[in-house]
Amino acid sequence: METKSLSMPKPSEPPSSTPAIFIPVDRTSEIQEARLKLPILAEEQVIMEAIKENPVVVLCGETGSGKTTQVPQFLYEAGYGSDNDLIGITEPRRVAAVAMSQRVALEMNLSHRVVSYQIRYEGNISDETKLKFMTDGVLLKEIQKDFLLQKYKVIIIDEAHERSVYTDILIGLLSRIVPLRKKKGKPLKLIIMSATLRIEDFTENKRLFPAPPPVIKVDSRQFSVTVHFNKRTPLDDYAGECFRKVCKIHRMLPPGAILVFLTGQAEVHSLCRRLRKNFPYSGKKLPEEEEEDSQEAMEKNKKSKQRKHMKLPKIDLDNYSAMPLDEGDEDREAGEEEDDGEGSDLDLDLDDEGPDEDEKPDSSLPLFVLPLYSLLAPEKQAKVFRPAPSGTRLCVVATNVAETSLTIPGIKYVVDCGKVKKRFYDKVTGVSSFKVDWISQASANQRAGRAGRTEPGHCYRLYSSAVFSDFEEFSLPEITRRPVEDLVLQMKDLNIEKVVNFPFPTPPSADALITAEELLISLGALQDPPKVGRLNDLQKAKLSSPITALGKTMASFPVAPRYAKMLALGKQHDCLPYIITIVAAMTVRELFEELDRPAASDEEKEKLKGKKARVLQMQKIWAGQGQAQKLGDLMVMLGAVGACEYSGLTPKFCENNGLRYKAMMEVRRLRGQLTTTVNSLCSDVQLFLDPKMSPPTESQVTYLRQIVMSGLGDHIARRISSEEMLDEKWKNAYKTPLLEDPVFIHPSSVLFRQLPEFVVYQEIVETSKMYMKGVSTIESEWIPALLPQYCHFGNPLEKPTPYYCPESGMVKCHRPSTFYRVGWELPSVVA
Ligand code: ADP
Ligand code: MG
Repeated sequence: METKSLSMPKPSEPPSSTPAIFIPVDRTSEIQEARLKLPILAEEQVIMEAIKENPVVVLCGETGSGKTTQVPQFLYEAGYGSDNDLIGITEPRRVAAVAMSQRVALEMNLSHRVVSYQIRYEGNISDETKLKFMTDGVLLKEIQKDFLLQKYKVIIIDEAHERSVYTDILIGLLSRIVPLRKKKGKPLKLIIMSATLRIEDFTENKRLFPAPPPVIKVDSRQFSVTVHFNKRTPLDDYAGECFRKVCKIHRMLPPGAILVFLTGQAEVHSLCRRLRKNFPYSGKKLPEEEEEDSQEAMEKNKKSKQRKHMKLPKIDLDNYSAMPLDEGDEDREAGEEEDDGEGSDLDLDLDDEGPDEDEKPDSSLPLFVLPLYSLLAPEKQAKVFRPAPSGTRLCVVATNVAETSLTIPGIKYVVDCGKVKKRFYDKVTGVSSFKVDWISQASANQRAGRAGRTEPGHCYRLYSSAVFSDFEEFSLPEITRRPVEDLVLQMKDLNIEKVVNFPFPTPPSADALITAEELLISLGALQDPPKVGRLNDLQKAKLSSPITALGKTMASFPVAPRYAKMLALGKQHDCLPYIITIVAAMTVRELFEELDRPAASDEEKEKLKGKKARVLQMQKIWAGQGQAQKLGDLMVMLGAVGACEYSGLTPKFCENNGLRYKAMMEVRRLRGQLTTTVNSLCSDVQLFLDPKMSPPTESQVTYLRQIVMSGLGDHIARRISSEEMLDEKWKNAYKTPLLEDPVFIHPSSVLFRQLPEFVVYQEIVETSKMYMKGVSTIESEWIPALLPQYCHFGNPLEKPTPYYCPESGMVKCHRPSTFYRVGWELPSVVA
């Protein structure tokens, strides 16, 4: 790594290479004073010279050194934002984009028309904008419109160490855009900013930057932090352990603010409440608490009013925000997490606290407790920057936003639960979920470092040193941990045909890329390579199929490609409202409560049994009659969503019918968002969302089954007949092209007892057996017509001639064919 060692700064001296233009900024003296304390101010000259001399500069420095708030100001003052040119700054998290634009506007004494932000659905960009803060997804979309990003003179990629997938791809793309812009005679500067974590992936990657960019390190003073490990590691009750540790610190240790790391919003609030109850402010409420309580009361009030009126629900079209190009992980954290698991009876190695003391007011100094997480309103986030009321101790309870994104002044004690909420991807469906997992060693050290910003500090790790040594050194970049078919589709949409050659900072595995390319070809999103079938070795090495028109449409939907294909086809026969609902329901998953869970008592067991019977009854009703039943579990989903909306989507309705309220709310938001996307894509379609929907007609059910099959062509299964049965383990089993082992229809499926011959499934889950979930029936004669890419026809040289009669939903196929890999013979239907 090429590191420039820096001489001591002389802030008062004017820069040696005076910029062509110098735009004065009229800051208040208060702001100016605060700025001068930031380590980065001392390096302004070195940084600006490096930027002037080099097209790409990597800037790394401890969190809080002033990178995000100051570097954009340096660039503005040096005239990079003049002549209608923009300075663009990307953030992986939406909150950071908004908060930082506001902070910088305030520091510069400029309006939001000049220092603006843009996130997916909102922004305050104007024609006066000079500094534009945005999410990485927003910039990626802009590249799709103007590959050279000609509006910009500088792009800052902030928080590059977070290694979000879109940040990684942006850096790869910009490594190509920068030389192209130089050729055009209008150079673009790229600044990659990162906390002091592993940056070799950017600097020592010859494919990314053949000439390694200079690295500027901003030194900031870091005081020593004493790390204390727990002797034992609590299993689940880390939130309870945090509570006890904070109590102990507060009662026994000298003044200094406390920062607690937890994993999610609900945990944060729960701990804040417990701490406030324990250490109240001279019997009176802190202003912060009153505000929270009144908010809570307002919410309750609102809810009870809603209940009284029982108004028909209206979808909030703007309320959904999980577009794939604009995701901050934590933006999804609201309501994602489970309870804190209080009440564990583990011996937690603390002698002066027992669980019985919990929630009882304590006579110690009051604690000024503040929550901090990414969804918290910026005004509330800003509170952590202000001093706590005198006679109190500040205690901030945060998620990992406080790890690198935000710096809180005066922290002396860090309490680290060692966990983080991470996104995990389902290998089969590509659908993501959040789970709490151990952090990496790098994160643990970053968290500890928060304690030594202004004086020596202490970090209490609520896990043992043995557990710490088992942590990963660094967390793997997101791109290596998930299926990539959606990324590959987005890149092909950018006309990056050879994805293998793309200069990823860390590439996904070759297998992941091949799987993605094959799937996208089968879905019709990419052009078929010359020989139909699976990719041959040469094709695998190249992976260079260009995108199709269908692929372009699919790329604009914020769901996985399999589902995007269904949406793209859904326009036919007025099926869109149903397909949108089915896709929303499949994407959200686990609509139904788990009723087979073990019961704690006989009483509960009886209750569960009763409920299950009731729920099964409901599901039978939702599954419909006649043709509708053939749509199977997807019909049940449609029925459940319709019924739920009809009832006003109340928690009570969900509870009574075994539906998960949170999931149903998410389905509602996603339906709204998908409807908006469809309307913006097709000028000839203007869908108005009818939340309740009338049931599909018989022929629509047939089309729906076909559309679903077209998206799930690699998820077809066929029942094994008694003649084919090898042994007992194949009884009632199905065979799929992907798996050697038998798979079964999940007992919770409405098709469990029917055992249709051909089905498509949403996913396979493995418990005692491999079970298919989200099952729908299909007709074998549809396969050669609608999925010819998966079929071998009699004579491979002759073009297949099946055709499809949309009026009847019938297929006419003049020659028999077999289904790929498994070689099932498919019928030839003659009209
Ligand atoms: P970095 O990007 O290097 O982590 P920042 O530029 O985010 O650093 O922060 C620099 C300083 O500005 C920190 O000391 C931080 O506490 C302070 N700061 C950031 N945002 C605000 C805000 N909204 N109000 C007050 N101080 C802030
Ligand atoms: Mg920053």
